[in-house]
Amino acid sequence: MYTIAIHGGSGTISRSEITPEQEKEYRQGLENALDAGYAVLARGGSALDAVEQAVRSLEDFEKFNAGRGSVFSANGRHEMDASIMCGQTLKAGAVAGVTNIRNPITLARTVMERSENVFLLSPGAEEFAREQGLAVEPDDYFYTDYRFQQLKEAQEANRTQLDHSRSNTGKGTVGAVALDEKGNLAAATSTGGLTNKKYGRVGDTPVIGGGTYANNQTCAVSCTGYGEFFIRAVVAYDISCLMEYKGLSLQEACDWVVQHKLKDMGGEGGLIAVDRSGNVALPFNSEGMYRGWRNAAGEGEVAIFA
Ligand code: ASP
Repeated sequence: MYTIAIHGGSGTISRSEITPEQEKEYRQGLENALDAGYAVLARGGSALDAVEQAVRSLEDFEKFNAGRGSVFSANGRHEMDASIMCGQTLKAGAVAGVTNIRNPITLARTVMERSENVFLLSPGAEEFAREQGLAVEPDDYFYTDYRFQQLKEAQEANRTQLDHSRSNTGKGTVGAVALDEKGNLAAATSTGGLTNKKYGRVGDTPVIGGGTYANNQTCAVSCTGYGEFFIRAVVAYDISCLMEYKGLSLQEACDWVVQHKLKDMGGEGGLIAVDRSGNVALPFNSEGMYRGWRNAAGEGEVAIFA
């Protein structure tokens, strides 16, 4: 039994906001990422490899706010955050504010496996990436007119923007969770953060327990939404805790945290999660969330709107 779920961010995503052509492109990006992660699981590979491959695929796809498609920070750069966690060992790796790294998720995994630390910050994180021989790209690689336009609009309005929001504001993140044949869980999340973010702002994405968490005893979780709320609500770990300490099912834990706790605080967004039995939950309290899942029986779907 194996299962994978992915997301490409949550927000004000409704049929009136995107054209049929855009919808087709987004769906293809999600399918490609599912294929990449699923292929690993289908050949008996690990959940950790599956989530890394799925997230790499989403990072390479320029429509989602991570890796190549990352939004612009106020300083005109792309400052990316990512984290990964192994549910079997409870080992984790994370990076924040990194620039020019082709696949921040692979850097996070390298931190987990080849350093003595959990969390590296730019510019040390890039130094470590170079030492480890990871792929680095010039600024051009991350440039798109669309994102640059978003930055200009945000700067003119003097606001910090979430990617998928009505004012074309920048919120968006990508993530994957998986259960492999051996019963191991893993979670991975990667983002460019908020358009026009300043002062070294870091969201929940690289925060273990906030935007990402995995534990073989409970579940694997990857979040997307207004990061400040997800950090304060310790969302990913809270879902695991509700299962571990209160005996809630995955669905019950997710509903409670996303539809009540987070919402009552004013936090908009969603998450993807899979438990040790292969159950999947994809809750969100925003208008939409780019999402998909697939299991060993071939069941699954790709969806965008509520
Ligand atoms: N959670 C991300 C952040 O706050 C953004 C998002 O998921 O849309 O950086």
